[in-house]
Amino acid sequence: MKLLSAIVPCYNEQENVEDFYVEFLKNETYFQQHDMDFEILYVNDGSKDRTVEEIKKLHEKDSRVRLVSFSRNFGKEAAMYAGLQKSKGDYAVIMDVDLQDPPSLLPEMLGWIEQGYDCVATRRVSRKGEPPIRSFFARMFYKLMRRISQTEIMDGARDYRLMTRQVVDAILSMEEYNRFTKGIFGWVGFETKWLEYENVERVKGETKWNFWKLFLYSLEGITAFSTAPLSFAAVMGVLFCIFAVLLIIVIIIRTAIFGDPTSGWPSLVCIISLISGVQLFCIGIVGQYLAKTYMEVKRRPIYLVKEEL
Ligand code: UDP
Ligand code: MG
Repeated sequence: MKLLSAIVPCYNEQENVEDFYVEFLKNETYFQQHDMDFEILYVNDGSKDRTVEEIKKLHEKDSRVRLVSFSRNFGKEAAMYAGLQKSKGDYAVIMDVDLQDPPSLLPEMLGWIEQGYDCVATRRVSRKGEPPIRSFFARMFYKLMRRISQTEIMDGARDYRLMTRQVVDAILSMEEYNRFTKGIFGWVGFETKWLEYENVERVKGETKWNFWKLFLYSLEGITAFSTAPLSFAAVMGVLFCIFAVLLIIVIIIRTAIFGDPTSGWPSLVCIISLISGVQLFCIGIVGQYLAKTYMEVKRRPIYLVKEEL
């Protein structure tokens, strides 16, 4: 008998915990027909509402429901990592508790795995119900990533993925602290089947992501999977050196021909401000990578568990 582990990160999701369970169990006949057992591994990411109590209630009713509870909010990336680490299944699937990753897709996904794929990934083809500004920047981000990173990162890819134990182990072997799972999935490779579906809007509760958080997350993605900004800083440095040399030559010739008029300080101020701006920007880029390296060398744990059932 094969075991399927569903990994479900939850952060302040008291309204959704039970709904998810009910929706997931609609696949039970499929599991029975295919000689498959399952466990639902809720990862409570330091919720401040009654999420843990809701999960415990389900655990008492059904021992296939498991709980890993963090000591504080570590973020969805940490929750997914913990879930994969604690999962026991031959297959593992990561799902949002807000039903934006429809459990009704699972039979189709399992079908592809049985046909020999290592990994079944999903992407949404529409961004219906999302603010247009957010969609625009999301598209830009994926375009940029495709250009500056060797790792394949799909536009609209969700974290909703079904994978075999082999892929889970590959992902777990990447123990980096700054986790950008969408990139990690691409990096590990393996035979991946992509399924597409229309965006499903969240049923209850609110999204945990605002524009600013998403922006920072995109920087995380860029620094984790590309060093192009560092090359960009170096190229800028070279360009400005060439510009400065040309300027020096022009000024020497001009002084030789026309003498040395003391005018010209406004242009000087402009040039100095421009170049110091570029310098600070480039130092900032280096700083970003340095900060990531600093966090990485500390080797802090990715998450801390407070309670497990
Ligand atoms: N989540 C989490 N920790 C966080 C933020 C979110 O575990 O710090 C979980 C959340 O409970 C949900 C999933 O990650 O199951 C996706 O979050 P959300 O629906 O807010 O994101 P969106 O679907 O809007 O991108
Ligand atoms: Mg959601």
